[in-house]
Amino acid sequence: MEKILIIGCKKSMDDVCIGCSRCLVAFNRREGVFEMYEDGEAQVMGLINCGDCPGAAIVTRLAQVKLWNAPLGERPTAIHLGPCLTDHCPHAEAIIKKIKAKAGIPVIEGTHPYLPADIFAP
Ligand code: SF4
Repeated sequence: MEKILIIGCKKSMDDVCIGCSRCLVAFNRREGVFEMYEDGEAQVMGLINCGDCPGAAIVTRLAQVKLWNAPLGERPTAIHLGPCLTDHCPHAEAIIKKIKAKAGIPVIEGTHPYLPADIFAP
């Protein structure tokens, strides 16, 4: 069973997507990057933000995920980075580098595919 931890941008998560709905809908439907789990069992076990600009707290937050979930027997097997982080964060390169260096599990860039191509086209 894959246990997925999603990481997004603190400044975006609850203001742009509102409840991180697009990531969660994409996971439930196995759309976007989550197509990779179409044939296997997978659960989202967590959805956290980067810890705010410039992302200095992200490794500590990953350690907290481990700490708080250990008594539950839960541990992420893969991390997915939302487009709010990978595509729109000025600190993305440094944050992604830190996560990949410390996670010890696969770190996959991408989640949902629902970015609109434009706003006003009919
Ligand atoms: S560091 Fe990047 S991902 Fe985190 S809150 Fe700031 S802009 Fe968002």
